[in-house]
Amino acid sequence: MMPETLVEPKDERESRERLPVLLPLPFPGPLDYLPPSADDIPEPGTLVRVPLGRREETGCVWDVDSTVPPDLAAPPGPAIDIRRLRPIRATLDIPRLPQSLRRFVDWLAAYTLTPPGLVLAMALRACNTDTPRPTLGWTRGETDPADIRMTPARARVLGALGNAPRSTGDLASLADASPAVIRGMAAIGLLREAPLPPEAHFATLDPAFNPPVLSPGQAEVAQELRAGVDARCFSATLLEGVTGSGKTEVYLEAVAEALRQGRQVLVLLPEIALSAQWAERFTKRFGAQAAIWHSDLGTKRRRITWRAVLDGQARVVVGARSALFLPFVDLGLIVVDEEHDTAFKQEDGVTYHGRDMAVVRARLADVPIVLASATPSLETVANVEAGRYRHLHLADRHGGALMPDVELLDMRTHPPERGLFLSPVLTDAIEQSFARGEQAMLFLNRRGYAPLTLCRACGFRMECPNCSAWLVEHRVRHELACHHCGHTEPMPPTCPGCQAENSLVPIGPGIERILEESRARFPDARILVMASDTLGSSQATAEAVRQISAREVDLIIGTQIVAKGWHFPHLTLVGVVDADLGLGGGDLRAAERTVQLLHQVAGRAGRAEAPGHVFLQSYVCEHPVMKALVSGDYQGFLAQEAAQRRPGFWPPYGRLAALIVSAHTAEAADRLARTIGEHAPRIPGVQILGPAPAPLALLRGRHRRRLLLRAPRNIAVQPILRHWLAGLRTASQEKVEIDIDPVSFL
Ligand code: ADP
Ligand code: ZN
Repeated sequence: MMPETLVEPKDERESRERLPVLLPLPFPGPLDYLPPSADDIPEPGTLVRVPLGRREETGCVWDVDSTVPPDLAAPPGPAIDIRRLRPIRATLDIPRLPQSLRRFVDWLAAYTLTPPGLVLAMALRACNTDTPRPTLGWTRGETDPADIRMTPARARVLGALGNAPRSTGDLASLADASPAVIRGMAAIGLLREAPLPPEAHFATLDPAFNPPVLSPGQAEVAQELRAGVDARCFSATLLEGVTGSGKTEVYLEAVAEALRQGRQVLVLLPEIALSAQWAERFTKRFGAQAAIWHSDLGTKRRRITWRAVLDGQARVVVGARSALFLPFVDLGLIVVDEEHDTAFKQEDGVTYHGRDMAVVRARLADVPIVLASATPSLETVANVEAGRYRHLHLADRHGGALMPDVELLDMRTHPPERGLFLSPVLTDAIEQSFARGEQAMLFLNRRGYAPLTLCRACGFRMECPNCSAWLVEHRVRHELACHHCGHTEPMPPTCPGCQAENSLVPIGPGIERILEESRARFPDARILVMASDTLGSSQATAEAVRQISAREVDLIIGTQIVAKGWHFPHLTLVGVVDADLGLGGGDLRAAERTVQLLHQVAGRAGRAEAPGHVFLQSYVCEHPVMKALVSGDYQGFLAQEAAQRRPGFWPPYGRLAALIVSAHTAEAADRLARTIGEHAPRIPGVQILGPAPAPLALLRGRHRRRLLLRAPRNIAVQPILRHWLAGLRTASQEKVEIDIDPVSFL
């Protein structure tokens, strides 16, 4: 008779056999599978192939217990009868996804109300599930060359063989021989195929390679940051310092400390374009390159980098917000540079704030995070005030460089000539900088030639057929373009409204128009345009930076891309063409964002010996934003902002979630928005605003309505939203998108 003890209690067997597997698909949670066999139970994090209907999918064995706080977590779905479960087909020969990443996926999904599989999809996007096939090259074959008729080309090929195998291309160019010669040599056994060595991409970084001599103030801050890394636990630090004070230099010391411990570091930058100059500086400091990560990397490079991060080979990754989803195995530090930048917010697909989620990532990995900025966000400053973050401060520009002088140029008293946009005061100053051999920059955050094209006869405006937005003229490309949906059309020969001829006129400037004006005003100046559409690739950016540093450029004309972290030592004059541009619209952070952006632009001037000067062209010189920019009193400005937002529980003193309802017709959008509004929760302290037409009431052909939920900080909005929308039925063309902590209100 079998002893009793050999029979397992049923629920224990259940829990061992039932394996949750998260698939990169929009299911509410992991699906259950059986292990591949009774003695092969894959651990959480293992990547597996599983059957799904008639397909096969790659997924990740997930954790049984969620670590998401209960107030965020979605309730589990009903469990499927174990007898109906299918086994995992295969486990992949890839190291397991680290627990800190799995927890991050769960957390971000719960916080943003996204199906966790869609978050996992972001983490797996660069995972190469095919068995990597080694690329083959050539090495010496079995045949003895003495036995063969030798030609000069064959002799050169043999001479070009290295210790390690070489690719056909390398060999052909080294030996100046054709691939046909190489194939012929292989056919008679002079050459043999052999796997090429893996690329030595991720060279060792040396923390002692080229450390800077820090000023006493910098050294003190660096010491604090190093201590944070040494503590090997979560802490959040705001590193505040004016542009050029050495924030980068100082946080690189914390990076060095993590490297000494043999751990990994993630540095997030708001803009891909910045990574080239950053990477160059990094290489000078550590003697080898950091791994770069952003959405424009080629597939192969992404796969190599992803795997190198998982193997622990890539030690330092610098990247855009998507680098948050890389499988770090031994993270020791996260840095978010320019933490105030709204580019960290992802608006499409899974909406999340890269800076905030970086803090979560650091907390879940139990490592320190450093948030660096010259103009920290009110969110971060509020966290400092509440004692959640530490505050370190670098007071002065490095090497005694002074902060630029900021001067308001009142356009009412110093107007430009008719049809032009630059005040004579500004153009005279630019001329004088040229005379001194210095560089100048004009900043206007608007691409194209003119933001609006209007009929002088009937007032008709050229609008996008798919969006409630004006079409922007791009004169270089001879077309009108929508900056929201990408729609383009040629400039019509006559007004579409009244058929008048030659009546369409451009209204207002974009940078193309400023370029035109500058060319006419400074015919001898060498002008460079920097905009996201002219600096498409990182090579183009690197080349632009090189030209500026080599003084091959006199005048830079740029959009917001020029504002970010660049270091241009010969630039001493900055002109902001339209300082009022960002102030319009009902955006909660319009003032804060304008101050941050313009402060950042101003910070490009006078970073070396020569002092810098900044002109702000404005029609609202009495606006608090302009006053703050002139006085440089950023803290005072933030205090005013705080005083305005605190009483109404606006962020960061309360929580916001936006619901964006969209449909193919205005009626359907209205109906759905109204239904949602009628079912709005009634909870003390929680306020629902709307529904109202979105400022972009039509976007990409979809009609949009918005609702806004506002709650005090101590109320979690996720369960409220989940409950609110639980019973909602939408037709196939209707959509409700949730944006937690919205940054854009369009
Ligand atoms: P921030 O990040 O605050 O704008 P950076 O770290 O870019 O400042 O420093 C501004 C400039 O000053 C850079 O060119 C940097 O190399 C230089 N710099 C800052 N601190 C030092 C230092 N201790 N020694 C040498 N150069 C420094
Ligand atoms: Zn459009």
